[in-house]
Amino acid sequence: MSDDLANASALLHTVFGFGGFRPGQEEIVSAVLAGENVLAVMPTGSGKSLCYQLPAIARPGLTLVVSPLIALMRDQVRALTAAGVVAGSLNSSNEWGENARVLGLLRRRELRLLYVAPERLARPDTIEMLAESDVRMMAIDEAHCVSQWGHDFRPEYLTLGNLARQIGGTLQTLALTATADAPTRGDIVDKLFAAPPRIFVRSFDRPNLRLSFKPKEHSTRQVFAYVRAHAGESGIVYCASRRKVEELATGLAAAGLRALPYHAGLDKSVRDANQDAFQQDDGVVMTATVAFGMGIDKPDVRFVCHADLPANVEAYYQEIGRAGRDGLPADTLTLYSLGDMQLRRQQIEQGEQSDERKRIERQRLGALLSLAEAPRCRRQTLLAYFGEASQPCGHCDLCQEGVELFDGTIEAQKAMSAIVRTGERFGMEHVVAILTGERTENVLKFNHDRLPTFGVGADRKAAEWRSIFRQLSATGLISQDLMEHGRWLVTDEGWRVLKGKARIELRKNLASATSKGAGRGRKAAAPPPAVAGADEALLGALKALRTRLAQAQKVPAYVVFSDRTLVELATHRPGTPGAMREIHGVGDAKLDRYGDAFLEVIRGAAG
Ligand code: ADP
Ligand code: ZN
Repeated sequence: MSDDLANASALLHTVFGFGGFRPGQEEIVSAVLAGENVLAVMPTGSGKSLCYQLPAIARPGLTLVVSPLIALMRDQVRALTAAGVVAGSLNSSNEWGENARVLGLLRRRELRLLYVAPERLARPDTIEMLAESDVRMMAIDEAHCVSQWGHDFRPEYLTLGNLARQIGGTLQTLALTATADAPTRGDIVDKLFAAPPRIFVRSFDRPNLRLSFKPKEHSTRQVFAYVRAHAGESGIVYCASRRKVEELATGLAAAGLRALPYHAGLDKSVRDANQDAFQQDDGVVMTATVAFGMGIDKPDVRFVCHADLPANVEAYYQEIGRAGRDGLPADTLTLYSLGDMQLRRQQIEQGEQSDERKRIERQRLGALLSLAEAPRCRRQTLLAYFGEASQPCGHCDLCQEGVELFDGTIEAQKAMSAIVRTGERFGMEHVVAILTGERTENVLKFNHDRLPTFGVGADRKAAEWRSIFRQLSATGLISQDLMEHGRWLVTDEGWRVLKGKARIELRKNLASATSKGAGRGRKAAAPPPAVAGADEALLGALKALRTRLAQAQKVPAYVVFSDRTLVELATHRPGTPGAMREIHGVGDAKLDRYGDAFLEVIRGAAG
């Protein structure tokens, strides 16, 4: 280990109170300390911030952090300040006094991290000020905002590539994002780096998230039951429409739960107040459209429920990724129906994007539908989409409850032979028309009604064949070529089944979303226990103390201590400051500030 890295590891312990690096962090920190330019692709919650915060305080000089959301900056500055690091942010919604404080620190060269919004960086006065400061590194958070492919494109990000030159120095650049797909990644490299950076891609596995999907039966009732089963926990319920957001928020509140609405149609002051309440308090349920999302930096969200099917697999992954950032178990449930699927398809077709973009969107939606109807472990299916091989997880709904399967080898062979006989040149609808024996315009145009496979699948409905397609895709027997009109190809594994060398099982309940009551009667799996081995009463007392301290300082509860820290305190019951110092999340600054108060509660509980 280099001296720099050893020094940084020590700071990990003394400043942040962490026992060690999370997977992926060490190699990134080490590359940054060695002066390299880096693009880090890591899933939400994996600890990206630390990858620039640690080098920022381990080395002299100022680190500039570009972040698109003010709420996020504010939380990070608070958390750093609580850990004893001199940090600040410059943005339009700061109080005047705060901006003056930050500028003072900057002039005296005391500031270690400066968070700035991209539009602020485009201003000449900001550039001038930075040119006079000691800025050494620029960390660009949410770097996918530079890409037009992404859902969060921000034109101001395009100017960041030139910033180093404008400030008049060499500026080491570290770009970070949780967006996994290849087109976006390419865009980031092109637009933010003069020369290709070192790229690190971390596993997208989030083992603490439990994945589950259910066909809609009575979605409001299903959501109510789900939220009630998680009463007292912080969670998000995503809905496809503002109207549904309002309805659910009102209904949940009437049922005695602390639920608040969030969507773009609400007054900004209401939105901000609701977001603050969610962020600061324990146990608030946010019912929201996807307008609520980026910039939510709350580590202890215990569940995410999709009351409607998300837009696509990327969106799904981002949205469920807001749960369980602290690494403790968190639960997710996605409800879907055939109507949802059709709506999402329409939204893509009626959108104003380019054809290429639509093709990518169709494929992303297809991947989500495959996940909804996966015949095997959901986590395995999701990770396969991100290009990762894995074993069944053992705790998703499919692993736990199983799913009724039948030997679908013949169906798979019919579908794949139709793909092969048409030269692997067509999309799903065309191949399905061939299977069901439908004489569409295209079928006639290509004389595909004369193929031996024409009509071999007439015993099944088109919807069933679409489901079979998604399942074959989910299990990797066929794959879609993104760059060429979304045509379907048979993979090597698919050929093994086609040649009769391997078999494949499919879900008995094809297109289950169409049939009412598909999931009825199945036992709902119990959510994973939030705490094991901790003294519940002591934990309650520690939470109460945390709430009092947080309210007194007007900061969110987790800025004082994370849930994990409280759970460890309640489990290990440290008796001395030295012992408490060994607990996750307890650094020097926090030990000084809160140690006595927490130790007293622990001692009280023991006696
Ligand atoms: P991301 O930006 O990747 O979504 P964050 O940087 O917000 O994730 O980190 C998520 C959570 O993980 C935070 O609560 C953070 O304090 C915690 N964390 C980060 N690194 C570590 C570590 N090495 N050990 C323990 N907790 C960590
Ligand atoms: Zn599983």
